[in-house]
Amino acid sequence: MDSGIGDLRVLEAIRRTPRHLFVDEALASRAYEDVALPIGHGQTISQPFIVGLMTQALVENVEHPGKALEIGTGCGYQAAILSQLFDQVTSVERIKELYKRSRDLSFTLGYRNVQVLYGDGLQGWKEGALYDAILMAAAPEKLPDTLLEQLKIGGRLVAPIGGRGFQRLIFIERQEGGYPQKVIEHVNFVPTVAGTE
Ligand code: SAH
Repeated sequence: MDSGIGDLRVLEAIRRTPRHLFVDEALASRAYEDVALPIGHGQTISQPFIVGLMTQALVENVEHPGKALEIGTGCGYQAAILSQLFDQVTSVERIKELYKRSRDLSFTLGYRNVQVLYGDGLQGWKEGALYDAILMAAAPEKLPDTLLEQLKIGGRLVAPIGGRGFQRLIFIERQEGGYPQKVIEHVNFVPTVAGTE
C-alpha cells in the first residue's frame, strides 16, 4: 500500500475527534501518537493510521455512506470517527464493561447517531441489517458468512482476517453475484472471541 489517507472527510473526522478522551488518563499524553494503546481487558485502541485506512476504504468515492456496523467497539474511538461520516452507526462489543463505558462516552461526547450494543458481533446485528458498510475491529480466523449476509449489494466490508499477530486487512464490495475480495494491508489486531463476557 503506497500511502496514507487522502480522503478529506476522513482526515477532518480524525482531526476533530479528541482521542485523549477515549484512553485512560495516564495515557492521555500519548493519545496523539500514531500507535495502538491499551484500554484494559487485554484490548487496545487501534492505531489512528489504521482507523483512517479502514474508514477511508468504506467511504472513498461514496457520496452518501449511509449505515455502518462495527464489530468490536472497544473504547468507541472508531465508532466516533464513523459517526461523523455515516448517518447511523451500530457498534457491537462483547465485554460488558467496555460496552458500558463506550456507550456512556459516546453519549457524553454527543455522538447521537452511534448505537453501542452488547453482544457477540460475530453474529452481526440482524435487527439493523442490511448495512452499507461493515468494519471488523477484531480479527477472526475466517470471515463469518453471517456478516456478509448483512451487507447490502454494493455495500463494503473491511476486516482483518487471520491468526494472532499477523492478518490480512481485506476489503469486499458486495456484488449481485458474490463477494470479490482484495487485500489492502497487513495488520495486527486482537482476535475476535465468540460469545459475550
Ligand atoms: N474499535 C476499537 C478497537 C477495538 S479492539 C477502537 O476504536 O479503537 C477490539 C475489540 O473487539 C475489543 O474490545 C474486543 O472485546 C472486541 N471483540 C472481540 N471479539 C468480539 C465479538 N465476537 N463481538 C464483539 N466484540 C468483540
